[in-house]
Amino acid sequence: MKDVYMDNAATTQVKKEVVESMIPYFTENYGNPSSIYKKGRNSKKALDESRDLVARTLGATSREIYFTSGGSESDNWAIKGVAFGNKDKGNHIITTKIEHHAVLHTCEYLERNGFNVTYLDVDKYGMINLDDLKNAINDNTILITIMYANNEVGTIQPIKEIGKIAKENNIYFHTDAVQVIGNIEIDVDELGVDLLSLSAHKFYGPKGIGALYIRKGVKLHPYIHGGAQERNRRAGTENVALIVGLAKALELAYEDLESHNKYLIRLRDRLINGIMDRISNVKLNGHIEKRLPGNVNISIEFIEGEALLLSLDMAGIAASSGSACTSGSLDPSHVLLAMGLPHEIAHGSLRLSLGDFNSEEEVDYVIENLTKIVQRLRDMSPLYENVKGDN
Ligand SMILES: *Cc1c(COP(=O)(O)O)cnc(C)c1O
Repeated sequence: MKDVYMDNAATTQVKKEVVESMIPYFTENYGNPSSIYKKGRNSKKALDESRDLVARTLGATSREIYFTSGGSESDNWAIKGVAFGNKDKGNHIITTKIEHHAVLHTCEYLERNGFNVTYLDVDKYGMINLDDLKNAINDNTILITIMYANNEVGTIQPIKEIGKIAKENNIYFHTDAVQVIGNIEIDVDELGVDLLSLSAHKFYGPKGIGALYIRKGVKLHPYIHGGAQERNRRAGTENVALIVGLAKALELAYEDLESHNKYLIRLRDRLINGIMDRISNVKLNGHIEKRLPGNVNISIEFIEGEALLLSLDMAGIAASSGSACTSGSLDPSHVLLAMGLPHEIAHGSLRLSLGDFNSEEEVDYVIENLTKIVQRLRDMSPLYENVKGDN
């Protein structure tokens, strides 16, 4: 049977070169980077070189790069760290309704602990309005946290403009750039961001490792107390092998950014056009141009998302729906609802996220199977019968 993986926004396959780069740090170079003997120094050297590479890629200095356990930890640390580190200045935070849960649930936690949070609306393309942002700022605002690109619909926010507004108002600006790394060039100074989250497993690196960029001078509470690692700000023996893997994956991602983007856009547009040509009553969610190269998110009317995913799985296709299965109940995506999609349409949504390992042949396989599956599911749907009757 076919094995077609089109859920690259959820996680990616680790590149072979990345796996190979990590192996020596599990085998002979397993020393603790804090130890002074050779094995320790070897680890320390790999750690330093990895940090330098991350810093160079982001246009930062090495002292501004902190390794974490991934995107969720980076988001938690950035937001709680700034909140608790600056509560003498104010207790107001601005974010959006379409953030990843690592940001949203952190903000909700802070609301239960004395902070006020403004959740900005988005338009039907998933884009925030800069005037809304300006109007939300008050004397108590200490942090703006807005994602660079959305993980469900791929919409890319005007980060540079947001950075400018934050700077003019003397407010810290954090961006969750987890979906953007390896898809867009990043320069933290040009963007005007003070904190930036990234996670290796979204760009063909290992899971459980990420980084937080913290601009020099940003006041931030530590989150994990213990040893003096990460400049006294994040304790725990460094995960050297995974950090080496993160750096290798990042290096590879930016080595061929342009060809990667061209390739994904070609596959993406083939997929979108193929679906639109073959299936009726389908709508593309997200922004037409300001969208991640690998993201396809569609709503298929008169279809139930979960049934669709199960059928796709039976055809060997891994994809994601516009619903989040939380404790057995199916909630439609908060992102699609914030974009104004009605519940029933949000329920029939499908995310296909493409990656470097996908092929044109796989795209065609998905188009063909999706067409058949939708036809079959609609044939069973009484709702669809009524619509057909009306036409
Ligand atoms: C995947 C993801 C995260 C979480 O990262 P982990 O490394 O899985 O904790 C956070 N934000 C966005 C936008 C993501 O896509």
